[in-house]
Amino acid sequence: MQLQSMYQDIILDHYRNPHGRGLREPFEAEVHHVNPTCGDEVTLRVHLDGDTIADVSYEGMGCSISQASVSAMYDLVIGKTVPDALATGEHFRTLMQSKGDPAVAEKLEDELEDAVAFAGVSKYPARIKCALMSWMALKDASARAWSSAPAPTEGAQS
Ligand code: ZN
Repeated sequence: MQLQSMYQDIILDHYRNPHGRGLREPFEAEVHHVNPTCGDEVTLRVHLDGDTIADVSYEGMGCSISQASVSAMYDLVIGKTVPDALATGEHFRTLMQSKGDPAVAEKLEDELEDAVAFAGVSKYPARIKCALMSWMALKDASARAWSSAPAPTEGAQS
């Protein structure tokens, strides 16, 4: 079975043809995240429709893993509610902590779709942050977009 090379093809494909790339309007929150250990950067915007993620737009630079990860994440989170998207992010984090255990990847395959291709990255501690950067940016941006929603709460500004 050529699973490893199939995974690499998926990652390279997202890197070469990123899905949803570019910064778009409207958006409720924009964040900039960096992964200094590798030099990866991403600027990411979230647009909510109610509690649903209507758009995630981004620009980034860095290694193929970091850039492919944003693209695979884009496919996974559009149309999901913020809690569902963050739950998917937690599954991705679980995959990144799996140390290459194929059983974990198999279990998360349906949930993570193309993002399961990053399973091999979990064997390389130095690269895990590359793959997780986009998900941390999404978590940050959705939390800010969420708090900027009309429901008035104390200290929601800034
Ligand atoms: Zn990187």
